[in-house]
Amino acid sequence: MSVLEYRNIKKTFGAIDVIPDVSLHIPHGSFTVFVGPSGCGKSTLLRLTAGLEEITDGQLFIDGRDVTEERPTERGIAMVFQSYALYPHMDVEGNIGFALKMAGVPKAQIKSQVAAAAEVLQLTPLLKRKPAELSGGQRQRVAIGRAIVREPKVFLLDEPLSNLDAALRTQMRVELAQLHQRLGATMIYVTHDQVEAMTLADQIVVLNKGRIEQVGAPIDLYNAPKTLFVAGFIGSPK
Ligand code: ADP
Ligand code: MG
Repeated sequence: MSVLEYRNIKKTFGAIDVIPDVSLHIPHGSFTVFVGPSGCGKSTLLRLTAGLEEITDGQLFIDGRDVTEERPTERGIAMVFQSYALYPHMDVEGNIGFALKMAGVPKAQIKSQVAAAAEVLQLTPLLKRKPAELSGGQRQRVAIGRAIVREPKVFLLDEPLSNLDAALRTQMRVELAQLHQRLGATMIYVTHDQVEAMTLADQIVVLNKGRIEQVGAPIDLYNAPKTLFVAGFIGSPK
C-alpha cells in the first residue's frame, strides 16, 4: 500500500514550469530517495509534499486521503532542512520539545516524548547542552530529533547531510538507515549525491528538470537504466 500518492502534480512559479507533471507512489515504510542535479525540483517536490508550497495542479494523497488543500500541520508530515537553525539559547531538550510546547502539549508528555526521541538518536547524555557545545553531527541529530518527536508518519529530509564533512556524512548515513529501521516510518530523502542515494534507498526516484526519469530499486537503476541521463547520473563517480 502507498502512503503517498502524487497524481499529476504540477508546480509553476509565475511563467516557470518547475514540475510539469509528476505521478508517483511512495510505499508505506519505504526509504525513498529523490535524486537529481541541482535545480531539478527536488526541494520543490518536498515542499509541495509538506504543504509549504501550494500545488498548482494535480492531487496529493496520504493513506488514500486527499491532502492537496490541507495545511502543513494537518498532514502528519515532518521535514528536516539542509540548514537546520537550532535555537542557540535553548538546550537540546528545549530544542527538541519546542514544537510540542507550541502545540500546547502538557509538560510531562513533552518530557517523555523528548526522552524517547533522544534515546533513539543517542542524545540522552547531551540533553542539557546548548547547540554551541555540540559537534556538527550532534547538532544535525538534534534537528532530526525536532522532527521525530512529533511522531510523524512521513518524514522528509532535504539534503540533511550536505553541510557535514565526508567522514561525518558516512557515519550519519549509517545512523539514518538505523533510525529508519527503528521508527518504521516512511522516509523521503533528497540528495544530489548518487552514493548517498545508492546506499540509503530502497526506492530511488531520478529527477531531471522536474520530470521523473526512472523509479526503481538501486540495483535495477544500476543494471538497467532506462535513459542515458539515468545511466550517467547513477553510474558516474562523484
Ligand atoms: P533542487 O532542490 O533540485 O536543487 P529546487 O526545487 O530548489 O531544485 O528548484 C527547482 C527550480 O525551481 C529551480 O530552477 C529554482 O530556481 C526554481 N524555484 C524554486 N523555488 C522558486 C521560487 N520560490 N520562485 C521561483 N522559482 C523557484
Ligand atoms: Mg534543493
